[in-house]
Amino acid sequence: MKLKFYGTRGSTPVCDAGFQEFGGNTTCVRLAVPDTQTIAILDAGTGIRNLGKDLVAMGYRQEQMVIAFSHFHWDHIQGFPFFAPAYDASQHIAILALGQGRAIGNLREIFEVQMQAQYFPVQLDHMGATFEFQQIEKASEYFTSPNNIITKVTANRHNHPGGSYGYRIERDGKVLVFCTDIEHGDSIDPNVVELARGADLLVHEAQYTTEELQRKKGWGHSSYEQALQVAEMAGVQRLAITHHDPDHDDVFLRRMEQLCQERFQQCVLAREGMEIEL
Ligand SMILES: [Zn+2]
Ligand SMILES: [Zn+2]
Repeated sequence: MKLKFYGTRGSTPVCDAGFQEFGGNTTCVRLAVPDTQTIAILDAGTGIRNLGKDLVAMGYRQEQMVIAFSHFHWDHIQGFPFFAPAYDASQHIAILALGQGRAIGNLREIFEVQMQAQYFPVQLDHMGATFEFQQIEKASEYFTSPNNIITKVTANRHNHPGGSYGYRIERDGKVLVFCTDIEHGDSIDPNVVELARGADLLVHEAQYTTEELQRKKGWGHSSYEQALQVAEMAGVQRLAITHHDPDHDDVFLRRMEQLCQERFQQCVLAREGMEIEL
């Protein structure tokens, strides 16, 4: 599997000078499976716009594209109306919300409302692509690729205003865990450690320093310290920290990365455009 970050920013996009190294677009990750030439997308923050442009430029075709969602806060859906393949009438797109206890009445409605006429000139039904809304109330689901390799996807609900879900994706002996928009509270959530157990790569958010987190209790996010703790407790190979605070500039994030690496060598702070193979 190969992962590419198209959006690493939390909360809101930023475009200021001094923020370009880590990037200003909000959460979006492309997961590519080279042996089957297929991709899956995690979250549709503003980064999905560039991802869609890349797919169009490559002339990329896939019978059905899957976009899986951690949750539906603005910074994770804001790019969706600008995702070019959604305007291709021959494209099928599956919108996936996997996990138990999701408090979603109607998954389609989330996107219909986002694109209703007061907010956006094109309504969901007129985009062009055929959408399938899959709300799967199970902890795990299995997906079989054309070459019969099975991908097991496990979703775990964690603490965040309105709830958010971490994903564990296991394929061909490799494990990727994507866990963002999580507030651990006074101690590390043991279910998150279990989800991340032995992962080749853990993508975990850290929006705040330990001091900032003291002032931002209840906002739904983690500190660098907590991301490192999860990586250590779960025994992961590599850690990529994402969902950077919109007030943290490149200089600040580089310093944080250095401090994190002093404690956990195989750690990076995710940059827009960064690719990691596992
Ligand atoms: Zn977020
Ligand atoms: Zn959120």
